Order: sequence, then C-alpha cells, then structure tokens
Amino acid sequence: MVTNNLKVVILLGAPGAGKGTVAQHLVDNFGVIHFSTGNLLRNEVKNATKVGVVVEAILGSGGLVSDEVVNEVVEINLQRTLSEKRVILLDGFPRSVDQAKFLDTVFNACLRDSLRVLEIDVDHEFVVARVSGRRVCIKCAATFGIDDRGDRCSRCGGELTKRPDDDEEVVRRRLIEYQRVTLPVSAYYADRLVKIDGNLSREDVLRNVTDVVENFDL
Ligand code: AMP
Repeated sequence: MVTNNLKVVILLGAPGAGKGTVAQHLVDNFGVIHFSTGNLLRNEVKNATKVGVVVEAILGSGGLVSDEVVNEVVEINLQRTLSEKRVILLDGFPRSVDQAKFLDTVFNACLRDSLRVLEIDVDHEFVVARVSGRRVCIKCAATFGIDDRGDRCSRCGGELTKRPDDDEEVVRRRLIEYQRVTLPVSAYYADRLVKIDGNLSREDVLRNVTDVVENFDL
C-alpha cells in the first residue's frame, strides 16, 4: 500500500466520549477525511449486504464486531480513501490491540512515524447521562446532544433518531467492553498518544483539540 506523505490521526475514546463531535470539528477545520468504522458498519446494515446481515444484531446489542470482519471492511474502504491523499481520521478503529497490529501490517512500518493518536478521556457516569440523550441524523450521521432541540438535522434536514445501542443498559455494556478490549489500545500507542479531557464543555474540548492538532503538524 502507498504510504508516502500519508498522515493518519487515530481518535480514541469510550462510547459517548464525544468522538463524533471532535471528528466533525476536525473535518470542518482541518479538512481531514472522516473514516468511521461505526458508520461503515451501519451502512452495511442499511444496505443489507452480506456483512450487514452478520453484524446487525451485534451493533444493536452493544458488543464488538469480530476483528476479522472489521479488518476486512477497513481494508476494502481504506484503499479507496488513501487515493484521496489527505489526512485520514480513524474514528472507532482500532478498537482492539489485534486491530492495531493489523493496521500496522496494512500500511507498513513507515506509517508508524506519521501516526498521531488523540484520546478523549471521560468519566463513565458522565457518558451514561450524555449518551442516553443523544440522537443521530439518519441521512448524514451528524450527532446531536441533549441540548439540541428539534426533530431535524441542522446540517442537512434529515430526521434525527436514537441509535439502538444508546439505550442505558447497552451503554453500560459497551463501557465494560471498552475497558476490557479497547483501553489496551491506548497503551499500545503510549509513545504517541495525547489525552484531552472530555468532561469539559463542548467549546473547551474543541479548543483543546485544536491546540493539540495544530501541533500535530498535519
Ligand atoms: P461507533 O459508531 O464507533 O460507536 O460504533 C458502533 C458499533 O459498531 C460498535 O458498538 C460496534 O458494535 C461496531 N464497531 C465499530 N467499530 C468497530 C471496531 N473497530 N471493532 C469492532 N466493532 C466495531
């Protein structure tokens, strides 16, 4: 795979940490390509593809899709994204150490130098409260919080719905899964990881993200 001048930012954080909001901020202000495995998998479900049929129940239950299936979806879609030669923001991937190792093999050793990792750190009780009130646009996948009023997306006019995996019990299960499987990914990238406090206001979080990403020299 071609890796010359390739820059990749990995966005880590528990479910509901605000990764979607941060990703949108980076798209709007830094022109990155948003590569979200959650969105890719939801598209597979929406289009009732072979993968979609397999993963539908898993997405709804709050569990993680197998490394094998996710890695395949990533490899297929990343090839296309790489040809755009822009900074790629990986959101929701890698979510396990095995996926991180797979990413190393997909690119190759030289990518490791251009890889930046940003982690949004939040208290889990804060996440439960936030995620229970979250809604997502069915057309453009933009995320809206408890304070956002109205039934329509302010970006594209699409209908806002609650994600099936944003139910409180499901969120708690996702947090346990996060701690068990995804937290070790932070340790895997310890030499290049920058943490942001995600418990602050949206404005403060985004301001801190901007400061950090400006130093990433993308
Ligand atoms: P997200 O939109 O990132 O919260 O992802 C929604 C759901 O998609 C997750 O709860 C998982 O079921 C699945 N998913 C997304 N990315 C991954 C991944 N890298 N590994 C395993 N499952 C994933």
